[in-house]
Amino acid sequence: MCGIVGIVGNSPVAPLIVDALKRLEYRGYDSAGIATIEHGRLDRRRAEGKLVNLERRLKDEPLDGMIGIGHTRWATHGVPNESNAHPHFSDGVAIVHNGIIENFAELRDELMRDGYSFTSQTDTEVVAHLVARELAKGLKPVEAAHKALKRLEGAFALAIMFKGDEDLIVGARNGPPLAVGHGDGQMFLGSDAIALAPFTNSITYLEDGDWAVVRRNQVDIFDMGGNKVDRKRQQSLSTSFMVDKGNRRHFMEKEIHEQPEVISHTLAHYVDFVGGVSKPLDLPFDFAKIDRLAISACGTAYLAGLISKYWFERYARLPVDIDVASEFRYREMPLSKNDAA
Ligand code: GLU
Repeated sequence: MCGIVGIVGNSPVAPLIVDALKRLEYRGYDSAGIATIEHGRLDRRRAEGKLVNLERRLKDEPLDGMIGIGHTRWATHGVPNESNAHPHFSDGVAIVHNGIIENFAELRDELMRDGYSFTSQTDTEVVAHLVARELAKGLKPVEAAHKALKRLEGAFALAIMFKGDEDLIVGARNGPPLAVGHGDGQMFLGSDAIALAPFTNSITYLEDGDWAVVRRNQVDIFDMGGNKVDRKRQQSLSTSFMVDKGNRRHFMEKEIHEQPEVISHTLAHYVDFVGGVSKPLDLPFDFAKIDRLAISACGTAYLAGLISKYWFERYARLPVDIDVASEFRYREMPLSKNDAA
């Protein structure tokens, strides 16, 4: 879930981006970063852990650009450390990304064959190189971004910035939410209206498959075919105390659409997507040495337990008992030394 912020502003944007990222902290993250462009120079600060670490970095080495993008990362591809933290760079292109690029392995191989080298383990870096490759072929930034976006599969929200244009951020959405905030002589991008609440309450939510060309005085939104689309501008009532349901009709619909991203984040704890192998589990018992598993859970976790019973019995041939936790305590289930509960 994590967060994205972009500002094409008229004063140094790094402190504003940090402020907006703080409003997205509720979504969870493990590292954070910001990039700005100042006098044609693209620069970034990144830090593992809480935003306060990034703030410390910025205090020691400030960024003064008036255009910038920021990110709180919740790792799916690659460990949470500074070199995997966003923004990612490639030849004058800076990118922040929420979600997953499902075809990243295929794209990475293609880009490596073309001579691009990778400095992170993330799926995101392929997007930076794809855009840079189109620029190197002579395309203008907006066309390069569009061409690269068309290659992507998966669930993503992206903000892309270009060293050669200090009045442009390209935003794209296919799954995770992304909103444009309309200011007066400045424009904003954010994962939700809450992030943008201190700057503007005039918001346009991108729809899945949309991408936006965001400049200080103009925003144009397109579909993947490159056709201009009209998206409603609305007054947001969000304050920093509210959870935003974006352009979904109700919270249940929002949560349904969040499932691919949430499941990817959960799986990322157990699967190394980059190496294509499962990660060692840190459990207080050895699955190979137990004869039976007892699961006790409530509500949705109980339902998840029922599914795991099915899988454990079918694939691991391990018998499983599952109980509603409120009943389990009265049942006094006999447990032997080779049972795990
Ligand atoms: N998949 C990307 C990564 O692991 C983005 C994760 C996110 O949504 O923050 O860096």
